Amino acid sequence: MTKHVTKHVFITGGVVSSLGKGLTTACIGALLETRGVRVRIQKFDPYINVDAGTMNPFQHGEVYVTVDGGETDLDLGHYERYTTTPLSRSSNITSGRIYQNVINKERKGAYLGGCVQVVPHITNEIKAHIRQWDGPEVDIVLSELGGTAGDIEGMAFMEAFRQFAYEHGRENVAFLHLTLVPYLRASGELKTKPTQQSVGVLRQIGIQPDLLVCRTEKPLTQEMRDKIAMFCNVEKQYVFDERDVEHSIYELPLQLHQSGLDEAVIRRLGLQAGPAKLEPWQNLVHGILNPKSTIDIAVVGKYVELKDAYKSVYEAIDHAGIANQCDIKVHRINAEEITDDNAGKRLRSMAGILVPGGFGERGIEGKISAVRFARENKVPYYGLCLGMQIAVIEFARHVADMKDAHSSEFSRETQHPVISLLKEQRNIKDMGGTMRLGAQPCRLADGTVSRAAYGTTDVMERHRHRYEFNNEFRARLVERGLVIAGVNPELDLVEIVELKDHPFFVGVQFHPEFQSKPLKAHPLFAAFVGAAIKRSQAK
Ligand code: GLN
Repeated sequence: MTKHVTKHVFITGGVVSSLGKGLTTACIGALLETRGVRVRIQKFDPYINVDAGTMNPFQHGEVYVTVDGGETDLDLGHYERYTTTPLSRSSNITSGRIYQNVINKERKGAYLGGCVQVVPHITNEIKAHIRQWDGPEVDIVLSELGGTAGDIEGMAFMEAFRQFAYEHGRENVAFLHLTLVPYLRASGELKTKPTQQSVGVLRQIGIQPDLLVCRTEKPLTQEMRDKIAMFCNVEKQYVFDERDVEHSIYELPLQLHQSGLDEAVIRRLGLQAGPAKLEPWQNLVHGILNPKSTIDIAVVGKYVELKDAYKSVYEAIDHAGIANQCDIKVHRINAEEITDDNAGKRLRSMAGILVPGGFGERGIEGKISAVRFARENKVPYYGLCLGMQIAVIEFARHVADMKDAHSSEFSRETQHPVISLLKEQRNIKDMGGTMRLGAQPCRLADGTVSRAAYGTTDVMERHRHRYEFNNEFRARLVERGLVIAGVNPELDLVEIVELKDHPFFVGVQFHPEFQSKPLKAHPLFAAFVGAAIKRSQAK
């Protein structure tokens, strides 16, 4: 019997960023899994931050949270939505983490007086992470590198990839390079030169890509494919085009399969695999293209101009739409523009209102006005993390007569800090990795909307926040009608609040969006959209 070797695919990007490398990586993972290949996916990020937790959504989009509380790059969300690959904090490795590990070892004297250098110490540390999943249970590891070929900060990673391929056996490693082939409207042509130059950069580093995936607006002609193959020194059969999908990103696995990409990866690595079982994806796309209803949902947030800031929330809304055979038009509404006076005008036509997570004071009063409108007018409301805290503040102020109720995140003077810090959090000074993070248990109360939606009594959901429902005010709020629908059974922390006599009013302290998948919508999102459809039909 031959020894099992875990094979590796390195995915790099060229020409420009934002080509959808993460999505392409996730789709390759999905296709391989449908063929029975056991896949792991990880992401290397060249920035110096130790993790994504301290980065602001403007620069970096959403911070994705793993089960074990890792605060990671949003590409991990794609991996988890498309595949079953287990992810943890060690699935996202930054330069900061690599350097931190090496420096910690140096301080402990682990290098025995040697001079510690990028090569070999940093590259060795990177290589150790590359092979962290190797073993008889894993057939292929996909490693995506953030940034673009030629970035100075990515150099150590590229060098580590090169060394790894040399040591692991070139036949066990494939380099996949994702590039852009721009279409010049003025001359009506696709241009291959940027791709040639980007591959040139890789070859200078000693990396010869095996597979090229070219993002294009127009299909590549055979002639262009031949030209790219020739000048990039890549076999013709391994040059692919990837065009923008027409309707939904969930068409991408099917499109890539049609182009033969999964087969090429398998062939290049000398593996054997079963046929792709694409029926679930085909049904999914069929459902998306044939909705039975259309509704409008408002997302009232702070970063509405950025699609990536609430990436997983938008995705989870889509999944819930798919589960309900409904086309959802999401209206991203800037919370700063909403007041008690204009909420009706701005929100009346919405079938549902969602307030996502967030930090900082900007837009808080607008969110409170949006929740008030939803509560008083019986519009389905769904609050996530900060959106739950806002719902509690609104209820305390306008129903439970605590006029100055607030979160102690935003007001130190309030006599009614209905949301506040736990004692354990009060003396924390460091910002990185110090929130309540990762999967925590939640016990659901009988007779609640949440209990019915989940169809079970105990769930695990992921957290990322510092402030909590303040139990000192619990009895008073419950007396006035607030429903405590979910509680952490170990810490007695309120995790879900609801309202009675309302079609759907649910606020959750956690982030359910991180567990939603296109093929398996999150039950609370599905229930929210179900309630929104009812409202729009009743109108
Ligand atoms: N700012 C709030 C807290 O820290 C909510 C955080 C969030 O929505 N993720 O508790």
